[in-house]
Amino acid sequence: MKKTTLGEHGQNLPTGKVAGGTFVREFALREFNFGIDRQIAKVREAQDGMAVSAITSLVLSRLVTKLHGQECDPAKPEESKALLYKCSVGDVMYMWLWARFEAMGEALEIPFQCQMPSCLHKDPELKFDMRGMDVFVAEGEDQLQGTVKLSRPYTVRKEQITELKVKPPLWSIFSQAGGASFNYQGAVFQSSVYGTDKHETIVLGEPELDQLSRKDYKALAKEIDRVSPGPRLVIEGKCPKCEGDFKQMLDWDYDTFFE
Ligand SMILES: [Zn+2]
Repeated sequence: MKKTTLGEHGQNLPTGKVAGGTFVREFALREFNFGIDRQIAKVREAQDGMAVSAITSLVLSRLVTKLHGQECDPAKPEESKALLYKCSVGDVMYMWLWARFEAMGEALEIPFQCQMPSCLHKDPELKFDMRGMDVFVAEGEDQLQGTVKLSRPYTVRKEQITELKVKPPLWSIFSQAGGASFNYQGAVFQSSVYGTDKHETIVLGEPELDQLSRKDYKALAKEIDRVSPGPRLVIEGKCPKCEGDFKQMLDWDYDTFFE
């Protein structure tokens, strides 16, 4: 996996569509104008309390014009949304950052408070350059697959399994997301685990995932992370007052992120 930045990688997906050893990474977005904003507001009004991920799908389905080598028809956002669901989570998050960058420029203002007890400097709008955000890019198909050896094997469909095979999770995990019952980690596991030492392909259900030991599911999460290209949704910088390093999660919620 190659480590680069948003500014360097530009208008290319971290993975894209993988076909016969080549990566189709190119994508394009239309200009985010007031008309699109109005469409989004209308859908949100009709669907009270949309999840953050559902709003992301809604916005990108209106913006994307080219993805996976296909042209997207602006009059058919449901088709574009279906195509987004085939993308990895990392690729959709990359398009999300790129959409913000194209619409609003590289400067991102974040609420900041220094964690150094001797400083505690506060800035409600600390400026940050999005182009410097770290991105991991797949360089070969083999990098998109991983294996976890279970420290405590268990029985799935009457067979003892000792190994889980994983790939990057798809954005489709968010197609049903919404309610408080949505379990993100569980959905990632279901989307990522594609096989075992005994099964070429498999989807593990909740009761089967629940049997994983803590050590094993921690290892599983780590391995999925390792094989998943995409941007790191973390902001790193230096406190403007004491110069101490800071790191904080990016708040990518539409309502704050696109301000
Ligand atoms: Zn400080």
